[in-house]
Amino acid sequence: MEIVIHRGENQIGGNIIEISTDKTRILLDVGRELDEEEVRLPDIDGLFDVPAFDAVFISHYHGDHIGLAYYINKRIPLYLGEASVRIVQASDAYKNTETIHPAGFLVHGKPISIGDITVTPFLCDHSAFDSYMLLCEADGETVLYTGDFRSNGRKSFDRLLHDLPQKIDKLICEGTTLSREGYVPVTEAELEEKAVALFKETSAPIFVLQSSANIDRIVTMYRAAKRTGRIFLQELFMAELATAAGKSIPNPAFDDVYAFITNPKRYDALTKYRRIGKDGIAKSRFVMCVRSSMLRYMQSLSEQMNFDGGLLIYSMWSGYLKQPEMEAFLCACEDMGLKVVELHTSGHADADTIKRLIAHVNPTEIIPVHTENAAWFTPMG
Ligand SMILES: [Zn+2]
Ligand SMILES: [Zn+2]
Repeated sequence: MEIVIHRGENQIGGNIIEISTDKTRILLDVGRELDEEEVRLPDIDGLFDVPAFDAVFISHYHGDHIGLAYYINKRIPLYLGEASVRIVQASDAYKNTETIHPAGFLVHGKPISIGDITVTPFLCDHSAFDSYMLLCEADGETVLYTGDFRSNGRKSFDRLLHDLPQKIDKLICEGTTLSREGYVPVTEAELEEKAVALFKETSAPIFVLQSSANIDRIVTMYRAAKRTGRIFLQELFMAELATAAGKSIPNPAFDDVYAFITNPKRYDALTKYRRIGKDGIAKSRFVMCVRSSMLRYMQSLSEQMNFDGGLLIYSMWSGYLKQPEMEAFLCACEDMGLKVVELHTSGHADADTIKRLIAHVNPTEIIPVHTENAAWFTPMG
């Protein structure tokens, strides 16, 4: 098997990895660059023009892994997780943009044969729901691509290791956190405990700024809300994504979860959910999930109820804090009487977790991707 890292080798995001034999060519992820404002299509023959790839596998729905799937030649079959597809399609429908139409779904432990390459997905934990590692086998060789993963979520990392092979030839491994000196991750369960402790300190409103597609975080914040006697409020976009993720994910079909809208034009879409308006919200004890674009809505709500002593939980990557729009949003929250508290944990493996994976799959060669510290891997290879 030949491996070509078209993109994502010495940078975080924008992964495009080609695996080929004499007969078959596939790609693992077709990501967009994280910081690009307009899509720039990379110069890869046979991806966008005349199709020369036999399949594209997407490890998970983050833009830096799936972003170019919208632009590739439609005749190239696309594979990703079934729940991922539902979430992506729900998101695209909300935004009224074109969506993707996969040829098949990734299922944990179920091999898919494309020509003489067999790809077996392994469900892993990440800040995107329904994420997979991908094991490629051909020519008597095995290559494992980790996608993005972590061990500090709610899925058991031991179980994943148990399911993975104990000897592979090549490991294409993510190393996002390796440039963070001494990084030790908080688990999603520990985050829940911290949230509960914080929520207990106040009876004023609580807002959580988080990604609507971070399904694990929705679970964490919902559980903390429930344990402190608060209803959980999801704006329509999050309600659509949480519903698409599956019945067990907190969504407005739960007794204590309500959907709301910030744009009256979306009322028709709201009616299929248990819903709540501003008057009802103002009378409730709640945890409301918000986006930074919802500032005006929050300001109008603050005219109907007192926010003093309330919290804005910042539950996203700290890098966004430096962005001027984010600074302005958080400042405006403080002006409304909210205390800004950071409560977040990474979706990426820490060094110890990566070492455990390497020790288990025992690769002959390691190819670092999705990292700014590829040198970390050198003594392990
Ligand atoms: Zn990524
Ligand atoms: Zn990711």
